[in-house]
Amino acid sequence: MIDAPRLASIDEVLLVLNEVCDPEIPSLTIADLGILREIYERDGNFAVVITPTYSGCPAMQTIEDDIGSALANAGIGNYRIETRLAPAWTTDWLSESGRNKLLEVGIAPPAEATSDKRKIRSARPLIIPCPQCKSSNTERISEFGSTACKALYRCVDCREPFDYFKCI
Ligand SMILES: [Zn+2]
Repeated sequence: MIDAPRLASIDEVLLVLNEVCDPEIPSLTIADLGILREIYERDGNFAVVITPTYSGCPAMQTIEDDIGSALANAGIGNYRIETRLAPAWTTDWLSESGRNKLLEVGIAPPAEATSDKRKIRSARPLIIPCPQCKSSNTERISEFGSTACKALYRCVDCREPFDYFKCI
C-alpha cells in the first residue's frame, strides 16, 4: 500500500514543532518565543498559526521553511501555515523557559512587560543586568546589536559586551 498522508494528532504536531528553533537564537524554540500561537484542526487538516516577531522580520521565511521540513520529516503533510498579524507579537509572549535560555546564551531578556507602552516611553533608562556576572553596572553601546531586535550593551564590571533583547 502506498503511504497516504498520515493523520497526526494535534499533540503530535506540537511535539514536532517544539523542535523548531528560531534562526537568530537557535537555543530558543518558536514556542519559547511565542511565535507559535496555535495549532488547530479543520476537516482533517492542521493549521499552524504563527505571528512574526516584528513586521518584515527576515527570519520568518526561514521559520516557515523549518516548520515545513520538520513536519515533512515526521511524515505529516496535511497542514498549512497561517500568519496572524493581530494582535501583534510582543516580548511579553516570551515564555519563562525562553527568558532563561536567553540568559544561558548571554543575552539579557526584555526588562519588563510591555503591556503599558506609554509608561515605558516616559520611564527613565532601564537598568539591564549583565547576563554573565549579574552586575547592574552596564552601559548601552549601540541601539542595534547583532539583529534589529537586540541592542548592544557592555558590562562595566566584567567588561563583557552582551546583547539585550529589546522590549517590543
Ligand atoms: Zn558583567
